[in-house]
Amino acid sequence: MNLKWTLLLACCFIMTHCKNGQEPKTLIPLSDMAIHTFEIKDPHSNANFNEVVVKHLDWKAEVDFDQKKIKARAEWTIENKTEATKLILDTKGLAIESVYLNGDQETTYTLLDGDKLFGQPLVIDIQNNTKTVTIQYQTSEHAAALQWLSPQQTHDKEAAFLFTQSQAILARTWLPCQDGPGVRFTYNAEVNVPKGMLALMSAVNPVKTNETGIYSFQMDQAIPSYLMALAVGRMEYQALDHHSGVYAEPGMLAKSAAEFVDLPSMINKAEEMYGPYRWGQYDVLVLPPSFPFGGMENPRLTFATPTIIAGDQSLVSLVAHELAHSWSGNLVTNSDWEEIWINEGFTVYFEHRIMEALKGREYSEMLASLTYQELIEELDAMKADGQWADTKLKVDLVGRDPDEGLTGVPYNKGYLLLRKIEETVGRDKWDGFLNTYFSTYAFHSMNTETLIGLLEEFLISENKAIADSLQLRQWIYEPGLPSNAPVPSTQRFLAIDELTKQWLDKGELTQVMKASSQWTTHEWLHFINNLPKDIGIDPLMQLDAAMALTQSTNAEIQAAWYQLCIVNQYEEIYPYVEEFLVEVGRRKFLTPLYKALMQSETGAVWAEKIYKQARPNYHPVSYQTIDQIVPWK
Ligand SMILES: [Zn+2]
Repeated sequence: MNLKWTLLLACCFIMTHCKNGQEPKTLIPLSDMAIHTFEIKDPHSNANFNEVVVKHLDWKAEVDFDQKKIKARAEWTIENKTEATKLILDTKGLAIESVYLNGDQETTYTLLDGDKLFGQPLVIDIQNNTKTVTIQYQTSEHAAALQWLSPQQTHDKEAAFLFTQSQAILARTWLPCQDGPGVRFTYNAEVNVPKGMLALMSAVNPVKTNETGIYSFQMDQAIPSYLMALAVGRMEYQALDHHSGVYAEPGMLAKSAAEFVDLPSMINKAEEMYGPYRWGQYDVLVLPPSFPFGGMENPRLTFATPTIIAGDQSLVSLVAHELAHSWSGNLVTNSDWEEIWINEGFTVYFEHRIMEALKGREYSEMLASLTYQELIEELDAMKADGQWADTKLKVDLVGRDPDEGLTGVPYNKGYLLLRKIEETVGRDKWDGFLNTYFSTYAFHSMNTETLIGLLEEFLISENKAIADSLQLRQWIYEPGLPSNAPVPSTQRFLAIDELTKQWLDKGELTQVMKASSQWTTHEWLHFINNLPKDIGIDPLMQLDAAMALTQSTNAEIQAAWYQLCIVNQYEEIYPYVEEFLVEVGRRKFLTPLYKALMQSETGAVWAEKIYKQARPNYHPVSYQTIDQIVPWK
């Protein structure tokens, strides 16, 4: 694999070697960054991991599509740090059948009442000599992590499909576990699925469907429970190079592989910047359209929405994002969900750096400008909705669903903070810090206070000018965007603003049409997102007649365009909105579209009608959000 990146431990320095023969850059001394440990307190887990902690999982499971259940045996190897007499695991909706210690010694256990959000703690009596705890159990049909799709709900419409989504605290709905990001374990698994189907996990994966329907998995690198993942269905594999490739339903495979052709170069660019990819293989699984997120960074196997398959590689920055998580998130992991900006802010920053390395600064500045505008609009909306306290980077989620912290703030405000640090201390120094940070804290947890300590120690030290310029604590602990925030800008967007103004002033669309023939998806998004929100139906119809935006097959453009049309009650396009909302389950698109529909009387009628039809296609992660927006019962 790519080993241009070399650690020269002998002199205790990290050196990066430029391909073109330039002098290597001297970065931060590696030996100076020590690992600071801290006690993890996780408000979203009932597990007693500070007393007894799970180290390894041996999982044997049968996937039953008829009953929509997983029947499984989870054998945990534990480390009892405090001579504790009980092991407490998180569960939610699991039917526990039996619990054994050291393989064959039956033990007593209690499934406590728990609550709606965090589930039922499973309290198991253990002994001093207990090395393993084996739990026989079944999932319930309401397991929120499991999405069971009928053949009709898949792309190829030929076979049923199952995929999991464990982040943030849903692993406990299919595995009794210590369900917090601060606990890591290795695992083996043997999964029995219907014949003709392939099973994949966040582990070393098979590349072919076998005749028995029994698949074995091994994951030797310790991961937290939210990165446990399973997909079962009719899938095929196409390699992109010797250590990356794509899985998809057969009917989606060729398109998907063509879209991700840059993936091997992305991996190389990422490694050149921030050190070796530590997980061996990197594959992407393109899921059926009901996947609620853009992507999920399951180790070795990113899960991705098919809505990024645009046919022109214009939306693959999402894969750069998931790949970047192989460092920020999967290697260095937020210690609990109040710290999620440490996963997501670093990842958006890294994603933009990968795209810059791949496509140039102008391209990544378009991404950054879109990110910035999205953040400004979201901050305004959060202020109006009384969610201002959640615009802090370190957010208070005690007693709340950690999903509520999953706004754009940890992503985009986090990104801007890291960009601010880069601009203040200089890119070389900042890259040196990140390199050392990822290698020192690999397979460890990180929290905000430890991170601030590291930033102060290595980048700010006694330099008052840097400290004053950054205002680190204000960024992290105060709501809103600090006045020193960088404002990304690009000539390509400014040119669009000028053309838009001319069109709206004079009604003449020719110049816009001429320029737009060369636009990338990002330029289209900037154009649509910056049209006046109350533009009215006539200009929308003029645009649509000239450019057929309603018929776009690019999901990002569709979502932005449909939203603007709905706000302006351009009702002719509603059948297209309906088709989109029934087909696509990605929450990022659903939320603003349903919200926009609910703003008018006719829209609300449509929304209710569409939602009734679409809700069975959505993942619980999505419908739990939309249930708050559209009445459906
Ligand atoms: Zn992410």
